[in-house]
Parts: sequence; structure tokens; C-alpha cells
Amino acid sequence: MATDYTPMIQQYLQAKAENPGAVLFFRLGDFYEMFFEDAITMSKELEITLTGRDGGAEERIPMCGVPYHAAETYISKLVAKGYRVAICEQVEDPKLAKGIVKREIVRIVTPGTVDYHSVLEDKRNNYLVCLAAEENCFALAVTDVTTGYFACTGFSGPDAMMQLRNELTRLMPSEAIWTGNRDQDEVSALCRPLNILLTTLTAEELHKTGSDAALLQQIQSILPAGPERELETKVCLALYWYVRATAKIERKDLGKLEYYQLSWQMILDQSTRRSLELIQTMRENQTQGSLLWVLDKTRTATGGRMLHQWVLQPLTNVAQIENRLAGVQELVENSEMRFRLGEALANVYDLERLMGRIAFGSANGRDLLALQQSLSVLPQIQQILSGAVSSILQTNHHRLPDLSAVTLRIATAIVDEPPISLREGGIIRQGYHAEVDRYSTAAREGKNWLVDLEKQEREKTGIRTLKVGYNRIFGYYLEVTKAQLGNVPDAYIRKQTLANCERYITEDLKKLEETILGAQEKLVELEYELFVELRDWIGSFTEEIRKAAQVVATLDCLASLAEVAVKYRYNKPVINQSGCLRIREGRHPVVERTLKDRPYIPNDLFLDKETQRVMIITGPNMAGKSTYLRMNALIVLMAQMGSYVPAAAAEIGIVDRIFTRVGSGDDLAGGQSTFMVEMTELSQILASATANSLLVLDEIGRGTSTFDGMSIARAALEYIQNPNQLGARTLFATHYHELTDLEQLYSGVKNFSVAVKGKGEDIVFLHRIVSGAVDKSYGIEVARLAGLPKNVVKRAREILKQMESSDELRLKQETSQKPTANADALQLPLLSAEEHPVLERLRRADVMSMTPIEAINLINEWQKELKK
Ligand code: ATP
Repeated sequence: MATDYTPMIQQYLQAKAENPGAVLFFRLGDFYEMFFEDAITMSKELEITLTGRDGGAEERIPMCGVPYHAAETYISKLVAKGYRVAICEQVEDPKLAKGIVKREIVRIVTPGTVDYHSVLEDKRNNYLVCLAAEENCFALAVTDVTTGYFACTGFSGPDAMMQLRNELTRLMPSEAIWTGNRDQDEVSALCRPLNILLTTLTAEELHKTGSDAALLQQIQSILPAGPERELETKVCLALYWYVRATAKIERKDLGKLEYYQLSWQMILDQSTRRSLELIQTMRENQTQGSLLWVLDKTRTATGGRMLHQWVLQPLTNVAQIENRLAGVQELVENSEMRFRLGEALANVYDLERLMGRIAFGSANGRDLLALQQSLSVLPQIQQILSGAVSSILQTNHHRLPDLSAVTLRIATAIVDEPPISLREGGIIRQGYHAEVDRYSTAAREGKNWLVDLEKQEREKTGIRTLKVGYNRIFGYYLEVTKAQLGNVPDAYIRKQTLANCERYITEDLKKLEETILGAQEKLVELEYELFVELRDWIGSFTEEIRKAAQVVATLDCLASLAEVAVKYRYNKPVINQSGCLRIREGRHPVVERTLKDRPYIPNDLFLDKETQRVMIITGPNMAGKSTYLRMNALIVLMAQMGSYVPAAAAEIGIVDRIFTRVGSGDDLAGGQSTFMVEMTELSQILASATANSLLVLDEIGRGTSTFDGMSIARAALEYIQNPNQLGARTLFATHYHELTDLEQLYSGVKNFSVAVKGKGEDIVFLHRIVSGAVDKSYGIEVARLAGLPKNVVKRAREILKQMESSDELRLKQETSQKPTANADALQLPLLSAEEHPVLERLRRADVMSMTPIEAINLINEWQKELKK
């Protein structure tokens, strides 16, 4: 029974009941202890010893613990595993406590609110989202508590769930809060495979979120009118509440709420991002080998995070894209400005997260110095940009706030090499605060002062034997021998009489004593107070410093894109609304970086909305179809994020969405077959693509039987190319040569192939895209190149020949026997079968005039011919 427990255990149980969903770290002296179930589970998770403790009940209570100074490591481990950890601290001095020490939960660390270095990645945001839904209306609020980013959006319609999935896979939050009325299972099913910890707010918690009227008004003043506004308000309030309840940071510590609409950016779904390998490779999930890996030459963490966002969120507004491009252009052309900017940016630390640490109250002396060093670079950046001509560089030049007061105050307050801990002193610089100076001098020079005082008193009184002494009861005193008592001034206060001397104190001596005794202790305390005061004062500049961080990040991204453009010979694309995609001598930005011993072969692209909407690309395996497809998608994407592109020239008529379906994307974990995944994706693409989208489809239909696959591919192509249905610009690579007949049927469809040179059994890949379809698939040649055993290759050739002739024969018979009433289908027989010459000879053979032997010989001859 709970009443049997000791007061301390009762206190523990009470704290645990406040947050039943969190592991409770309960501070006991130098340890955080866990009890009961928590202890049993956590001893396994953290690989620490499980012990027990008497707690008043009959049985010992399971217990395990970690030292307080190592707690961050253990909490990080748990948070990475998706646990929430509630930290319960002693909130009064145990020496002063009457009865049991008061304890309170000071913070709940969760995957979405953690601010530990060890968990965070420098160049990645750690997002926490809050979701709400009602029927087909969704709202999403997102924050990164370590950088102060705070934004919100809403969307509705039949594909709202898909949009939510796109947004979640773009943000990849580590935690989501659910407040909605819709079926939670759907949201859980979305979050689980993405490793997002989902927290559902209770009705009681939800009620609490709406209680701040001022906040409510502030949020509503930012959000535009619209059907989602009510839900958007709800998610913003709930997110604020959750952050306050867990991380205990204030509203001002989250930046200004930003509103955005999904349509303001190019829409990319998860499979497109994955198959274009935008931020990580498909196979190994590594940054190396991704587009970001090529483009990221940022010097700062803030810049790195922004570039990450730019890559995942290309723009669709011509003016905004041109604005970025103009900045890149200026930095490409003005190499001195680029170099100097790069050098300056290299000295800027992570301003956003430093401000995050200030908000969390975890910034130490070193963080303030890093902040000071970073802020002191700003005037230099301002000077570098003073002659800028592009609007984006000029605007950022003017946006840089004057933070010299902060720089100066930190420089005067903090020593050059402060310790990590705030509780040891040694942080505050001499001259910053008179009291600190006195204490630190006292601690250091106290003894000398006493010698001086002794000397002064001797001179003043003429008592040459006067001595300064110390004991525990009276502290410091002046000792005068009996013989000299007549010279003792009136101001001396007698404290003790001994056999041959008297002991006195004076006001001066007592002051000195106060200063010396406990100087160190007082020094540490005062330094801490001054530091916190300074930290809070800097906190009042959060908005300006965040603005500076945004400027730094933008400049860093532009400089990075410019550096890459110069280094890899990229050119500035022309952006317009023409609907054309025209690329001359384009290169795949990543493949060209990874080819070691051979050059990259550039290729052109032309797509528009009329004459050439769809390119059907055939060619043998390994010829370079996928590379060509991805290259074009990447060039469009790079151009729309404001980057130069790996091409001699490019004209990009704005694309609203890119959809790629390249290679097989098995979702075995999700319980779906390759073909099922492929078809689900295709149906999503056809449902959400528009006439302004770019579709990049590689070998659609290959996951099923040839005829089914071919039929699906053809039907999809017919739908896509039709301006009355979709009419989207499309690159379609296929091994179904039969689809190339579509060129003759539809004016917007054109055939292309990847050139190869055949030399006997050998083939040479030219990697060049040429007009017209290929006539041969070279699959067996590629298999031979891949090292398939000779006899297997030989046998494959035989089988191919047999299959080709029997297939052709069968199809010929089928098409001649069953003419279909559908004119469209008649126009395009799926396979064009050429008759074997043996058949004609069979038809003409005059059987009646032959002897049986002649007939047998003839059959034998035909058989030989058929086997060839
Ligand atoms: P499959 O049909 O088997 O998927 P594919 O035709 O799509 O083959 P890719 O995967 O695009 O072929 O290219 C095969 C290899 O050829 C690539 O790994 C790359 O190294 C090289 N390659 C492709 N395009 C080029 C190019 N333009 N210049 C130089 N090398 C290239």
C-alpha cells in the first residue's frame, strides 16, 4: 500500500503520477535514481546494474541510477530510442530543508524537444510537429526548439492525407503531437514507419492549450482567413503548450510564427526525394553521393540547415528564384567578395543553436564567447557586402542588425578561456564588476592584505610586537602583549584575554575578514549570478540575433552555390513560365563527380507543352537511361532552388511538381510487393500531377508479366500525353520497344534512345541520347559483360531466338484470327510479327506429288532451319 512507503518514495510516486508516460529521473544527492518498473526496464536499456532499496514496504523496491554528471549521455540514449525522460530535481538546499527536500519536475526531455549536442546533428533540424485534422482538413505546426523555427500550414481536399505524408517525410520530425478528431490509427500508421514518436494529447491537456487569450489573439493575427484557420490555431496553441510543458521554455524563445502554404514550393513526394537522392543515397542512406553532398560547401551550421531546406523545397515563383540566382551570379562573378565572405563565414558559430542554449538556460561561458566571436564577424560581413549590387545581397546587407553592444558586453564580461562548468568560478573577467574583483583579489591576496594591515597597525600604534592571528571562534584578531597594553587605541575592541596578551578586533580587520573568509565561495556564487544576468540580458536580443542568423545562413547558401558553380563549371539557367524545358549539354551533378577514369557525356533535353510533351527513351540496360532521366529532374530542381546548373545552357519553364519513379522501391517492411508499391505510386502520380508537372518514369510496369506491364505502361502514357487528361511533360524510359509506336499516334510523343555501338558480340555504351527508337535490346550482351558463365549466355541466346520466333508466330495467328473492334488498338498491334520463311514454303509445298522420303527430308530441313 502506498501509505506504507517512506516519504521519499511517496514523493517519487507523486512525481511519477504527474507524467506516467515518461521515465522519471529522480535526483538523490549526486545520482538520478529510477524505481519500480522504470528501474527494471531502464537497467536493461542503459545496461546499468539493477539494485534494490528499502522504501517502507515489505519488499525491497527495484532501483537503478546514474551519476548526475553523466546524465546527459544516458538521457540522450533513451531519447534516441524514443523515450521521454522527466527530470525531477531537488529544488531547495538540502541543508536548509525542513523534513524531506522539495523536488519538482524541471523538464521533460523528449525526442522533439531535446537540446543535447550529442543527439543533434549540426546541419539538420530536429523538428517537433503538431497535427490536427477534421474530415479532409489538416493543419500542421512545426518547431525546432533548438533554433526557434516556428511555422504553420493547413491543407484540405481529397489528397490531404497524401500531402500530410509529403510534408512529414520532408520535415522528418522526431516527434508528433496529435490533437485531431480523425481516426488516430491513420496518423499512427503514417508516423510509425518514419520513426516519429506520436503523442496524443488528452482532453484535459487540450483544454489547457487554449487558455492563453493573448497568445490566441497573436496567432490569429498571423494566420490568413481560410477553411483551415481554426485547426491551424489549434495546432499552434497546442505546440506552444507542449513546448512550455516539456522544455519549459518561453514563447519568446520560439521565433515569430511563420505561415506557409504547400503550393508555394515545388511539391516533391517521398519517393521522388529518395529516387533523386536529394539528401541521401537510396541504398546506403548516406549523404555522400547525394545532391546535397555536391552542393553543400556551407561554412556554418545555420547555412547547412538552410541549404538542406532549399534542396527539399525548390521554389515555384519566378521572381523569387531569379532573386536567389542573381545573388549566386554576383558571387560567381565577384570572386573577391566570394572569398572574403567565405573566410568571414568560417568564423561564425551556430548562432541559432547558441540562442537556443540561452533560451534553455544551458549556455555556458564558452557558448557566450562563441556568440561574441560570431557576432564580431557581422561588421566585417557588412563591410564585404557594402558594394553589393544584387537585390538579395543588398537586402541582407541592410537586414544585418547592429549587435555591437552584445559583442562588447560579452568581451568585457567573460574571460578568454572560461571553464565548462558555471559552478566553479573563473568566468568573469577582471574589471567587469567591482565586487567580483574584490572577492577574487581577496581569495588570491588575502594573506598579503593581513601582512599589510599588521604593518600599518604597528606603525599607527607604535606596538612593534602587534600580530595578526586567527582562530575559529573569533576569526582574525590583533594580539598585543601585556607590556604594550598602554598603547592600544580606543578603537580596538577587546575580544579575549590570555595569560600574557590580549586579543582585539577592529572594524577594518572585520571587513577584511569578511572579504577574505568565504571569498572563494562568494566569488563563485556572484560570478554565477552575474553570468545568468548577462545570459538573460543577451536573451532579450533573441529576435535580432535570430535575424542575423538568417542573414548568415542565406549568405552562406548563396556563397556555397556560387562556389560549386565555379568549381564544377555550372551555368545560370533562364527561368520563365514558357512551359519549355530546354537543356543543352546537361550533366548529372553527382554521377559526373563520381566517374573516375572516363569523362561524363553531356546530353540535351527539349520538352514543351505542345510539340514534344513526352519522350519515350529506349536503350539497352546500362546505357544510361536512368542517369539521363535523373539528370534532367535534378537540373530542373537545382534551377528552381536558385542554383546554377551543370549544363552549357538551360531554360526552365517553371515546374510545379516533379514526380519520379525510378528503380524498384520495395516496401517489404510495409508489407507491399514491388509491383504493388509501383502501382500505388503510379496511381498517386496520376492523381496529383498537373499539366505543369514533370514526370520522370523509369520502366513502369516491369514488376509484373510482360503483357500486363506493357498494357499498363501504354495506358498510363496515353493518359499522360493527352492534354485533355493530364498533358504533363514526361520522360519515360522503357524496355518495351512496342511502346515506341505511340510516336506515330500522338503528336506530342517522341522517341529517343541511348546510342550504343555493336561490334560483333561486344557492345560499346556511348551514353548519348539520340532521336529515334532502338531496334534491339542487347540484354544478353549486357549479361555477358556482367560475367555470366559463357554456356549460360550461349543458352540464353538460343532460348531468345526460339522465343522470338514462337512468339511472333503466335501473335501473328492471334491478330489474324481475332480482329478487335477497337480502332485505336487496331492501329497499333502490340507486337509486329514477321513470318518465318519456312511457313511460306510449307504453304506452297505440293504434298501430293512427293514421295514419303521426300516429305520426311523436307520436314527435316525445315526443322533444322527453325532451330537455327
Ligand atoms: P538499366 O536499364 O539497367 O537501369 P540504364 O540505362 O538506366 O540501365 P544507368 O544506370 O543510367 O543505365 O547508367 C549505367 C552507368 O553508365 C552509370 O552508372 C554511369 O556510370 C554510366 N553513365 C550513364 N550515363 C552516362 C553519361 N552520360 N556519361 C558517362 N557515363 C554515364
